[in-house]
Amino acid sequence: MNTAVAILVQRDYAGIAAAYRELLEADLQRRSAEATGGSRPEPAREFADGYYHWVMTLLRIEERRAVNPSLLLPPAMADGLLAVGRARAEFAAAHPSCSYCGAPLLAAKDTFCWSCQKSWKEE
Ligand SMILES: [Zn+2]
Repeated sequence: MNTAVAILVQRDYAGIAAAYRELLEADLQRRSAEATGGSRPEPAREFADGYYHWVMTLLRIEERRAVNPSLLLPPAMADGLLAVGRARAEFAAAHPSCSYCGAPLLAAKDTFCWSCQKSWKEE
């Protein structure tokens, strides 16, 4: 990726959030398909590779920042981390955790957990 394109990707915060959300959704689909013995084709990626590389970079920076909160970041990186956080919150709202095992449910209204195989009645 050339520098001009890298800068465009790094400042496309909506794109960064959407690409990360896509990675989270794909990971959930893959894990649930593996757990239930199903197979699903790898979903097509909506964004250029640079978006996913940048998301992975931001996640590594986020980890380092958890250890060293005083780590100074350029504004684009700090805003990128906010986009990652927004995507994670959206994912959590769309996929609440199973109250038995903590795995993200496939849908907010699910009454069955793909991970621990428990089911419950709707409240
Ligand atoms: Zn569960």
